[in-house]
Amino acid sequence: MYEKIMIKTGLQHLDSIRDNRMIFLNGEVVGDVTSHPAFRNAAATVGRLYDFQAEAENIDLMTFPVPGKNIRVNRAWQLPRSYEELVERRKALTAWSQLHCGFMGRSPDHVASCVAAMAMGRDLFEQYGKGRGKALWDYYEFARDNDLYLAYVIIDPQADRSKATGEQQDEYLTAAICDEDNAGITVKGAKMLGTSAVFANEVLVASLRPMREGDARYAFTAAVPIGAKGLKLLSRKSYEGAAESRFDYPLSTMFDENDAIVYFDEVKIPWERVFVHRNPAMSHAQFHTTPAHSYQNYQAQIRLAVKLRYLAGLAHRICETIGTIDFPQVREILGIIAAKVGMIEAGVHAMEVKGIYYGPYFVPDRALLYAAGALAQQYYPEIVSAVRELAGGGVIMLPSSVRDFANPEIAALIGKTQLSANTDAPGRVKLFKLAWDSVGSEFASRHAQYEMFYSGARHFTVGNAFKTFNWKEATDLVDRVTSQYELTSGGRQDL
Ligand SMILES: Cc1cc2nc3c(=O)[nH]c(=O)nc-3n(C[C@H](O)[C@H](O)[C@H](O)COP(=O)(O)OP(=O)(O)OC[C@H]3O[C@@H](n4cnc5c(N)ncnc54)[C@H](O)[C@@H]3O)c2cc1C
Repeated sequence: MYEKIMIKTGLQHLDSIRDNRMIFLNGEVVGDVTSHPAFRNAAATVGRLYDFQAEAENIDLMTFPVPGKNIRVNRAWQLPRSYEELVERRKALTAWSQLHCGFMGRSPDHVASCVAAMAMGRDLFEQYGKGRGKALWDYYEFARDNDLYLAYVIIDPQADRSKATGEQQDEYLTAAICDEDNAGITVKGAKMLGTSAVFANEVLVASLRPMREGDARYAFTAAVPIGAKGLKLLSRKSYEGAAESRFDYPLSTMFDENDAIVYFDEVKIPWERVFVHRNPAMSHAQFHTTPAHSYQNYQAQIRLAVKLRYLAGLAHRICETIGTIDFPQVREILGIIAAKVGMIEAGVHAMEVKGIYYGPYFVPDRALLYAAGALAQQYYPEIVSAVRELAGGGVIMLPSSVRDFANPEIAALIGKTQLSANTDAPGRVKLFKLAWDSVGSEFASRHAQYEMFYSGARHFTVGNAFKTFNWKEATDLVDRVTSQYELTSGGRQDL
């Protein structure tokens, strides 16, 4: 289906997503996402990621040679066998994130990280279901060798959270196996929330949440091409489509990665693309016993570290522009931003240093990963709020659109009113439009929601931090103190 390539380029990716994909937006079916006004710039951004890895000076940084094959693919597919290889891989992920300042949350390296780490645990897939481990490994090789862009949907649609998957009003609210035969399974129902699915080659469908034994038909994992018959994407509003211009909305226009409900309208999936079959225990184990959940969230922390660094830079520029940079109170707020960014960066480095072996593969430390994830969820809205506090009304005191500059009378008034400490009127307007699109616009608001939820609601992320922390080491310290005295121990003379 996909042509073998030396190193995937943007053009090749964009060609590969011009297929029969069924995307609904604003009451219509979207045709070609690479040219549609709601998607084309974000599609081009994805294309630029692949072009970047194919540029001669970036090939070593971004790609690795596939053993025994004449191809190089993105390092996200690499299965590190040492601390050094993990770090090498991280540098590639960081370089990609820098191209979008961390705003493409589900860039191709996210789900690739998850699938690569599932492949590290292929024996477990085989133990749970004969042939499933082989199917998973073959798929990993296929996706890796073609450097596929994968999205995933691993959460049931939010309906009634007080009920289990199989207890919802409609038994096919959540995607379930509705039929199966010698060729494979047929799947019907929905999953949330296919971020970037409109730009991806394929979607991995699975269940992250624990499931009851009686809900086995929901407990499957499979890979499906986005253009597969019956697969429908119900897109949210496009911020790119609604944006006036790049000058007015520099991020909305370029980095709107999209989120869509994925609906499986009786989609047939062949057995060689089914990795978990009617198995609630394995549905859970595929993420938590293999390093899949660690690797996907490790990628997310690497990306987030870049995004927070960008927000810190933005905060600093705002303060320079409005002349507040030397005020002690302002420096205190900037210092707190810097400290939080530093903690997320430190978390990435620490989870690598404390990494452990899973079979022959080197994986980041889970306890530190979940600690960083829980804090990141809290830090993101706090940092956004700090940037807004530093910016004051400057992000609102702005011309209505770039078209105002084309009217000489309005342009003259903009020149008189948009004054600042370090730049001219267009420079000030440019920075504050960017600031608003980073922390205030609908696009920015979606990002706050993304960072607060992409890795699960708070009870889930904090629960993971609770489960993986070394409580014994902690409580041993307490016990060491209490073991040194008794009820009968006396006062100071016993010391
Ligand atoms: C922008 C965005 C992009 C996303 N992209 C993807 C994606 O690409 N792929 C994917 O699979 N998923 C994606 N998601 C979904 C994401 O994984 C979920 O939002 C997340 O798991 C939380 O589930 P939920 O949204 O249904 O919230 P819920 O689980 O319904 O939680 C909502 C709130 O209800 C409360 N609550 C609910 N249940 C409990 C409980 N048991 N105990 C205590 N409190 C509870 C909490 O206060 C919680 O904050 C995305 C989400 C967002 C917002």
